[in-house]
Amino acid sequence: MQTYQLLGVKFQALTMTEALDLMESYLQEERPHLVVTVGPEMIMRAQEDEAFKRLINGADLVVPDGTGVLWAAARCGIEVPERIAGVELIEKFAARLAERGSEGLYLLGSAPGVAEKAGEKLQALYPGLRIAGVHDGYFKEEEPIVAAIRESGARVLYVALGAGKQESFVERQGERAGIRVGVGVGGSFDVISGLKKRAPQIFIKLHLEWLYRALGEPSRWRRLLAIPRFMALVWSKGKGAVSLWRPEENMVEANTD
Ligand code: UDP
Repeated sequence: MQTYQLLGVKFQALTMTEALDLMESYLQEERPHLVVTVGPEMIMRAQEDEAFKRLINGADLVVPDGTGVLWAAARCGIEVPERIAGVELIEKFAARLAERGSEGLYLLGSAPGVAEKAGEKLQALYPGLRIAGVHDGYFKEEEPIVAAIRESGARVLYVALGAGKQESFVERQGERAGIRVGVGVGGSFDVISGLKKRAPQIFIKLHLEWLYRALGEPSRWRRLLAIPRFMALVWSKGKGAVSLWRPEENMVEANTD
């Protein structure tokens, strides 16, 4: 596994199996590990939002979830084995947890009822999976949620609070919540629960999943403007857009606590 930076944002080039192995190894270590799935939209936000950039760059594992990342890497002569879609990563990791049978999974985020439904679906898909608890993502106070996660004994937390908010929750509260793996999952509960459909295979194959989502959700159009901006920026940086990870450049005052 090699670690790179794309426009100053860290990501790791590895296969799905390697990512899952790494996440399983985190379960053996007594500290929280943050897992981020990063795409062009988040990389563009990181250009303007230093705190957001530090959050991603401080994560233990950052997987490329977005064809744009692979495209940028290829332009710079770097081979990335595969795109790791967030929803696939968390389903496959749930399967691993089911096989292990010991560690509980807590699902936090999305509209009321959605995480619960996603939990039922995951449990049906992977018998043996222990859903330790669920809570929606529209809460006012964090404290009771942190306490509930700790009391549930969950070792793994999937958080769907939108990019930034979800990773920040894991970073700030992971230790007190007693978890070992925390994954920011974006809209994945909406997909797993069946509330939103993932794009048909043909869109995924043609790398047009973003287009399918935008067609069904016009409010995403504005956010999608980040993609041409991302491409233009990668283009203008030439071979310098992607390079080996240089933490000294991007990790200034990363851990302030
Ligand atoms: N969400 C939430 N609480 C919030 C904001 C968002 O639970 O305060 C949920 C939202 O319902 C959705 C998920 O977070 O299920 C991802 O939201 P969005 O698509 O806006 O995030 P992004 O695309 O930035 O990951």
